[in-house]
Amino acid sequence: MPELPEVETVARGLDRRVAGDTVESVWIGSRKQPLKSPAGVIAATLEGKRIVRVSRAGKHIVFDLEETAHPKKGGRAARGEPRRAASPHQSDAHAQWIVHLGMTGRMVVCEPAVEIAKHTHLIAKLASGRELRFIDPRMFGKLSVHSGGFDPGGVEPLEVSEERFVALFRGRKTPIKSALLNQKLLRGVGNIYADESLFRAGIRPRRRAATITREQFGKLHRAVREVLREAIALGGSSVSDYVDADGEEGFFQLQHRVYAREGEPCLVCGSTVRRVVLSNRSSHYCSKCQK
Ligand SMILES: [Zn+2]
Repeated sequence: MPELPEVETVARGLDRRVAGDTVESVWIGSRKQPLKSPAGVIAATLEGKRIVRVSRAGKHIVFDLEETAHPKKGGRAARGEPRRAASPHQSDAHAQWIVHLGMTGRMVVCEPAVEIAKHTHLIAKLASGRELRFIDPRMFGKLSVHSGGFDPGGVEPLEVSEERFVALFRGRKTPIKSALLNQKLLRGVGNIYADESLFRAGIRPRRRAATITREQFGKLHRAVREVLREAIALGGSSVSDYVDADGEEGFFQLQHRVYAREGEPCLVCGSTVRRVVLSNRSSHYCSKCQK
C-alpha cells in the first residue's frame, strides 16, 4: 500500500510529465467504486483544463487545474480573448482533481498505443498526445474533484515544527503508535513508517503518548521526518517514478529495520524483533532498543 513517500514520488513524477499539459477529453469506466464525485462532474471539471501542477497532500495526489484560454468546444472564452479577466475566486478557476491510490491504485502516463491495462478506470487524453490513466485492480482508490483549497485534514509531517508536533501528541492516553496513525493529527504516516520512526526514536509502539518525555518527542519528530525523507529520496532515484507504463509494479522501499521483521535479529542489538497487534494493525519493535 503506498504510503506518504510513495505518493510523493508518484506526484513528483506526474508533475514532471504532465504539468503544463491540457486535458482534452476524459473517459471514465462504468465501475462506481473509485468515484467519489459523479463521473459527469469529474469529466466536466477536467476537460479543457490545463494542469498547473501536481503535488501531494497527505496521501492524496492533487492536480491543480486552470481554465484554458481556448476551451475545446463552445467554451465561454472566445478565441483570441484570453480569460485574464477571470477572477481567481471564480469557482472553476482553481479546480482540483484529487486522486487517492488506495491499496493498488496506479497512475500511468503513456502513449495512446500502449495497451489499456485491465482495471483501468479513467483515461485522460492530453493535448500533447499522451494519455494519463488511472488503474486500480482492488478499487480502494478514490477519484474526486474539488473547487479548490482541498484540505485532507491533519498536519503535514514533513512541515510540522517540533513544537507543533509535541502539542499534537502530548498528554494523549492512546498508544503513541495509534496516535501516529491518526490521520486527523498527522496526515500520511502509515503503518510501516510509524514502526520505523518509533524504532529510530527508541520508543515502544504501545507506550502511552502521555508518558513520553519532551526529549523523546524531539527524537520522534526528527525520526519521522528522517524516515520519510530517506524513503522519498529512494523513490525519487528510481528510473520510472512509477508513472510510466513500463515502470516497476512495486515500490522500492526503505530497508526496514523492524517492520515485517518479526523473529529476526534487531539490526542494532541482535535481540529478536517482536510483533504486537495494536488497533488491528501489526506493530514491530525491539524490546531492548525501544522503551
Ligand atoms: Zn535492538
